[in-house]
Amino acid sequence: MNYDGDIIRPPSEANSIILQVTVGCSHNRCTFCGAYKEKKFRIRSQEEVLDNIAFAARYCGKQKRVFLADGDVLILSQKRLVALFELIRENLPQVNRIALYGNAKAIRAKTVDELKELKRLGLHRIYMGLESGANEVLAAVKKDETDKSMALAACRAKKAGVFLSVTVLLGLGGVQNSLHHARETARVLSLMEPKQIAALCLMPLSNTDLGRQYQEGTFELPDSTGILLELQELLLNITCYPVQFMANHASNYLPLSGRLPRDREAMLNSVKMALLGNQPLVPERFRAL
Ligand code: SF4
Repeated sequence: MNYDGDIIRPPSEANSIILQVTVGCSHNRCTFCGAYKEKKFRIRSQEEVLDNIAFAARYCGKQKRVFLADGDVLILSQKRLVALFELIRENLPQVNRIALYGNAKAIRAKTVDELKELKRLGLHRIYMGLESGANEVLAAVKKDETDKSMALAACRAKKAGVFLSVTVLLGLGGVQNSLHHARETARVLSLMEPKQIAALCLMPLSNTDLGRQYQEGTFELPDSTGILLELQELLLNITCYPVQFMANHASNYLPLSGRLPRDREAMLNSVKMALLGNQPLVPERFRAL
């Protein structure tokens, strides 16, 4: 498979065929995100995509899932996406599930009927970054979205019946907005009603604006206790059910996973034990993005 630069994919797509259709992210301005800083956004040529589909047809016959990289393949026109999904169906008939990253703007650019058409052609899951439900935080990190615009995007995906997995970032509000960020994030998640929530923990990267603010001392990151309190606040305030809640990414201090509301008490109990020092946290040196 031929890739342009490093490939980033959600942990749950580890066994998927990764087809790189775009390079980088069309937004690429979020102050905390270093994922595509070195990549200038472009849509890969038809020839590049066809070569990789041919490679997958030859060597990936046992893999039943496809993940479309990089940042937001959903930004492609409906015509191009339909042609791409049809190519995947023709050449990789064993594939029964296609997933991609879709930012809120790209989701809103599609009608419900267009999303339904993609679902019919195999689109199973959209991974979307909410990061925070607090408008002050969204503005500070240059997400160019609001609580309402995020909820609108989620509503569209939901109406189309596409599985929505939403990522949030603990610590993104800094010490100053810590609990407000957690409460607002829980509120907006509850409006969005995703099927899955992934809570990651912010680790400031040196190649990002937020990383520089952190180094200069103008952004103060909550410590592990502050992060646990945010996690607790999220768990207490999410009211969309049923939803898979995962805080088991390598960046987390306390790996947690369960279904809400069923496992809320058990997860809250783990957080409480950790806050009391009775449950070990992942040491800093083992945390990673
Ligand atoms: S967080 Fe998402 S939308 Fe923002 S720059 Fe990174 S990939 Fe692009």
